[in-house]
Amino acid sequence: MNQTIERVAEAMQLVERAVVAGVQQGGRFLDLRERSIRALVDLGVRYVALGSLVPFFGRNHHIRFAGQVIRQARALTPPDVPIHLYGAGDPVELPFYVALGCDVFDSSAFVHFARDGWYMTPFGATKDPAHAAEFGCPCPYCREADSAIWNDARQLARHNLWTVVDVVRRLGELRRTGGLDDYLGEVLDRHTRWFPESQLATSWREVMDG
Ligand SMILES: [Zn+2]
Repeated sequence: MNQTIERVAEAMQLVERAVVAGVQQGGRFLDLRERSIRALVDLGVRYVALGSLVPFFGRNHHIRFAGQVIRQARALTPPDVPIHLYGAGDPVELPFYVALGCDVFDSSAFVHFARDGWYMTPFGATKDPAHAAEFGCPCPYCREADSAIWNDARQLARHNLWTVVDVVRRLGELRRTGGLDDYLGEVLDRHTRWFPESQLATSWREVMDG
């Protein structure tokens, strides 16, 4: 964490017309993460990126820790400074990260999911064609390939990426129009019906309860 802060301080002296990503470290320790953000804000960074959260993703959609980290970072970061979340790319989780104050995401999950046969939807990735039929994907790859998409990892990856981008675009709209809360409710309802074992709803409630 200290190394990263030192490097960011160095970089801030060097750049003129570029943006330095102020990378937050601190692993699983919220107190270190708080120190990290405070130091970056003191350095005057105009872009914050939340690091080393990947090991906490993918555990049955348990988003409590990531949620706590984002909420804390958002509270300490000036409102006009965007927050980037490294490694988050499951379209069912992104709305919750946006609701907590994240603005930018990057992830190669769309490829890894496709390699393992997972079809992404805004309500969770699935291997059940009945879920896909209920969702009714409007992307060009699904319209073209129809059910053959399940046996073609490249086309599946394209569908997955299209879905991620579409969700991010829609989240931007919902944030402007104020419809994000309703959307979260809709996602939780269908996600929980499809995946009763998922921790998404319970861990989200834990974030909300503080
Ligand atoms: Zn599709």
